[in-house]
Amino acid sequence: MLILLILIVTLAIIFGVADIRRNLITKPVFAMFKRILPPLSDTEREAMEAGDVWWDGDLFQGKPDWQKLHSFPKAELNTDEQAFMDNQVETLLKMLDDYKIVQEQRDLPAEVWDFLKREGFFAMIIPKSYGGREFSAIANSTIVSRIATRSLTAAVTVMVPNSLGPGELLMHYGTQQQKDFWLPALANGTDVPCFALTGPEAGSDAGGIPDTGVVCKGEFEGKEVVGIRLNWDKRYITLAPVATVLGLAFKLYDPDNLIGNKEDLGITCALIPTSHKGVEIGDRHFPMNMAFMNGTTYGKDVFIPLEWIIGGPDYAGRGWRMLVECLSAGRGISLPALATATGHLAARMTGAYGYVRQQFGLSIGKFEGVQESLARIGGFTYSLEAMRVMTAGAIDMNLSPSVVTAIAKYHMTEMSRTLMNDAFDIHAGRAIQIGPKNYLAHGYMGIPISITVEGANILTRNLMIFGQGATRCHPYVLAELEAAANPDAEQGLKQFDNLLLKHVGFAIGNTFGALWQGLTAGAFNTAPVSGETAKYYRQLSRMSRGLALSADFSMLILGGELKRREMLSARLGDVLSQLYIASAVLKFYEDNGRQQCDLPFVHYSLQRALFEIGRAFDGFFANFPNRFVAGVLRILVFPFGIGYKMPDDETAIQICEAMSKPGVVRDRLTHLCYIGEGEDDATGLMESAFVAMYEAQPVMKKIYQAQRDGKLPRKQPLEQTIEQALLAEVISDTESKQLLKMNALRFSAISVDSFKAGELESRALTSADAV
Ligand SMILES: Cc1cc2nc3c(=O)[nH]c(=O)nc-3n(C[C@H](O)[C@H](O)[C@H](O)COP(=O)(O)OP(=O)(O)OC[C@H]3O[C@@H](n4cnc5c(N)ncnc54)[C@H](O)[C@@H]3O)c2cc1C
Repeated sequence: MLILLILIVTLAIIFGVADIRRNLITKPVFAMFKRILPPLSDTEREAMEAGDVWWDGDLFQGKPDWQKLHSFPKAELNTDEQAFMDNQVETLLKMLDDYKIVQEQRDLPAEVWDFLKREGFFAMIIPKSYGGREFSAIANSTIVSRIATRSLTAAVTVMVPNSLGPGELLMHYGTQQQKDFWLPALANGTDVPCFALTGPEAGSDAGGIPDTGVVCKGEFEGKEVVGIRLNWDKRYITLAPVATVLGLAFKLYDPDNLIGNKEDLGITCALIPTSHKGVEIGDRHFPMNMAFMNGTTYGKDVFIPLEWIIGGPDYAGRGWRMLVECLSAGRGISLPALATATGHLAARMTGAYGYVRQQFGLSIGKFEGVQESLARIGGFTYSLEAMRVMTAGAIDMNLSPSVVTAIAKYHMTEMSRTLMNDAFDIHAGRAIQIGPKNYLAHGYMGIPISITVEGANILTRNLMIFGQGATRCHPYVLAELEAAANPDAEQGLKQFDNLLLKHVGFAIGNTFGALWQGLTAGAFNTAPVSGETAKYYRQLSRMSRGLALSADFSMLILGGELKRREMLSARLGDVLSQLYIASAVLKFYEDNGRQQCDLPFVHYSLQRALFEIGRAFDGFFANFPNRFVAGVLRILVFPFGIGYKMPDDETAIQICEAMSKPGVVRDRLTHLCYIGEGEDDATGLMESAFVAMYEAQPVMKKIYQAQRDGKLPRKQPLEQTIEQALLAEVISDTESKQLLKMNALRFSAISVDSFKAGELESRALTSADAV
């Protein structure tokens, strides 16, 4: 007892008396901190500092305030946006024939291009004062999603001008003159933009672009002016083949100090008309057979005036920061919209196909093996919609949450890849044969594109989510890094000393908090609601504590090494991501009036998120290099083992039942999915067959009963049975007509396209076309 008392008093003196603490604790810790955490490069620092910390901060710091989550406004379309959805978007959808666009024309028809320009589809983010539509992020996302369920090519074409590129950059950083000149022309479609960052030598490492601009004197419009001589070679640029204005990223140098006293100014962005002398729009790429425009651009010794820098000469060298600050739009709106569209289309069509397609005398959707995959499609689709709405909602709150949007980009595109594979597995041969009836093939082909763009997925998971999250969302680490980088060492030590005490308190709180919550299984955590979802809030709070604790210890033990240990840090990123996914689902459920019929989807999503959290922690503990610390952390977070399980079979079956019957639950789950009118359209046909079969069930029951009673033979084609049933007065004339129609629709819906001999060969690309 006496020893404990002495220990407490000693610690109190050491920590309580500033001078003693500073000399005995802060100085050595500060020195160690500087040693283990190498200074950030400029590009890393700019990426770290860009954007906002939002709900990710709560989740990372171990104490999520659930009331705060519920108080974020629900993202919804306003009247103008809804009218645009109901009119322009619906008209566009009817104009699109994706099979022709992708397989035959390899471009959008001219009237579609005209319609998109005329109706302001390229101007959704441009303010009304410049002739744009000034739509919210949720409207932008909903419009792109809905179009993507009909045509990925059209969706990507619409999405790009409304994402990171000239429009977005001009609005944030453009000079008044630049805005007045470019925005009206972009809004009315006179100008079509593209943005070129990527080149053969720099993809993921975009900060390492070799394209250069050198400040020099040259001639522009007959006068000698100070400008930039540019050299670039870019590839993969969406819309480049049809662009009239090129947003270009390059590294700017001023060797003769013509605009200041710095030689290496850094990444800079300029806007250049593609008609400008020397600008070359090169060949077109052919990304996964998709028909949206994508290609190359290059230029050699192209001279432009300084005024073409976005933001003017003052923004020379500030391009990297501009890009990372604007990345959220692409990551948080466009890619999530495409991923959600995949879910809505796959869920609606696969639910229907599982009912329409029969094998072994049963709809295949009744087999449990198929149900496992179908439930994943349904569960993921619910989670995707929840994440789409919550993430766009954050952007509509004028936030630019860089970690959250990286989570959305990575996980939503990965979920869409998984569920599209499930949809293919269930459709089997019906999804493989390409033709006008195949509503899944182009979506499947497009998935690797979503995975690759806006930060390829491996990089996004391994480098961005935790790498950025750990620094941005932690309450003290970024400030500690800044203290370490302070050129005034004494001042830096003072800042660090202030932070250290708080950091130690935070770590102690998390250690005891995690253990307490582990021992009590989170039973005493508060939940903002009662009922079936309350338990999830308690578990998520508990896991959030576990994350805060584990993240702190891994940064303490591994320091800068953690950046290289991507497999390890990515697992903590997975925990953060699953906490975000789960929060989005809970909020979505509340915001939509706690619909009882949504509960299977909510249970599925939450149980899966918790299971993934457990799996990520397990991998993290198993691979943490300091085995003692790993053991302690495991005991603190999971004293009785990791008990989270994958969603149970009963939940999966309930989801499948909801997806396999026409009605409000299915309609809400897949509300973005385009269903063509009439049976000539691929989705319209499947939907009609499904509804017809469902509605024919009462009549079919009469036939089954007659078969059981021996009045009608079994095992013969349905058409024949219907005829005999009519003759035997088992069914009426009207009922027989209903069944015959249903059967014709069913057969047409399970049929695939085929082509006459020589037809495909005559359409094949010649090698001359491909060069
Ligand atoms: C269809 C399409 C459209 C595009 N449109 C545009 C556009 O309009 N404008 C534009 O500028 N660019 C565009 N891009 C480029 C796109 O952003 C890049 O393809 C992307 O940044 C990846 O670069 P890369 O393909 O060269 O892959 P690489 O950089 O070569 O990466 C290869 C793999 O390594 C991984 N990797 C790399 N570094 C790390 C790391 N540190 N840790 C873990 N993994 C890592 C990546 O995740 C990836 O899996 C487009 C690309 C495509 C395919």
